[in-house]
Amino acid sequence: MKQTLIGMNAAEIQAWVTTLGEQPFRAKQLSKWLYEKHVRNFEAMTDLSKAFRATLEAQAEISPSKVGHTVMSSDGTTKFLIALHDGQVIECVTIVQGNHLTACVSSQVGCNVGCPFCATGLSGFRRNLSASEIVDQYLLMQHQVDQGLLSEFTDHTRISRIVFMGMGEPLLNYREVVKAIGILNKEIGIGIRNITISTSGVIPQIRKLMEEPLDYNLAISLHSARAHVRDELVPLNRKHTLPELLAVAKEYAEKTGRRITFEYTLLQGHNTSLADADVLIKALKGIHCHVNLIAYNPVDSQYQAPPRAEIRAFQERIRSGGIPVTLRHNHGQDDMAACGQLSLTNAETLLRTVEG
Ligand code: SAH
Ligand code: SF4
Repeated sequence: MKQTLIGMNAAEIQAWVTTLGEQPFRAKQLSKWLYEKHVRNFEAMTDLSKAFRATLEAQAEISPSKVGHTVMSSDGTTKFLIALHDGQVIECVTIVQGNHLTACVSSQVGCNVGCPFCATGLSGFRRNLSASEIVDQYLLMQHQVDQGLLSEFTDHTRISRIVFMGMGEPLLNYREVVKAIGILNKEIGIGIRNITISTSGVIPQIRKLMEEPLDYNLAISLHSARAHVRDELVPLNRKHTLPELLAVAKEYAEKTGRRITFEYTLLQGHNTSLADADVLIKALKGIHCHVNLIAYNPVDSQYQAPPRAEIRAFQERIRSGGIPVTLRHNHGQDDMAACGQLSLTNAETLLRTVEG
């Protein structure tokens, strides 16, 4: 079997190159081509000897993942469907945002947390992604940006921010996600402050994350500060309860010095009244945090987004309660490119249609 190169960290590349009888500095050159220049074929690695390139061709592959299809919205938000080596399909998205190009990446094929308003949750769980498959989402997107994909929308040519808000629950694929972040940070050079893990609240793994040497940005998908409502919206709340989650969030912020983001998807009639806002304010008092409101993106579920006026009123209530609050712009909604909108089945059908 060929060695897949993307997903190997510096030490692993070094060890592997040595087994081929090459000098250690070759590992640095190879890593640079893969992670800094984002090339997708060995021929392009012009400072490697012809013989070494031939060895690479015979014994290694850069990555088996392929971009199957892209959907671009009028604001430049681009969703990529990526076909994996075993035929599974995942989504990732680049978002043009002021000073940043942001990549929203997936951590699993599907998700088994089962939040009833989330297209991924509704379509079930298939498998975890490897660090290679996670890192390669970034590289495949950056490769297309290098080719001028977004030139009519922005002068930025480098994806500088990563959020784990695509398919899957990153903390239920802890080892591969942390390894991938190590590569994104150390080999690719994305600042750790620009990498955010979004979790539905897997408490033991949040504790584990706190012990890691790097201080990751953490976003917690709260959606309600009422226990019985959160039990419905985020089923793992029945096991990892709200009081424990709020306590660990406070601890995380204190230990890492990072401000926690609480994500709050607005679902009319479930979590959007002013009384809900007051319960939220009370729950978050004393936690170094801010709230990011997300208007529900319609997927095939029973929920609805509240009208604009209701969103504004909710936001204003939180703000006047002393909690910093932002409203997330729904990038890419016109073409189903927004986060949380594509189910596995849709992704596969779309890809099959496009491939004919
Ligand atoms: N599993 C992780 C990360 C992926 S989901 C998590 O739940 O945090 C990223 C964010 O999108 C979460 O806050 C999630 O609740 C939200 N989301 C999912 N489906 C959505 C939808 N249809 N509309 C709006 N937000 C949604
Ligand atoms: Fe999974 Fe997050 Fe979707 Fe919930 S919102 S089902 S945790 S991907």
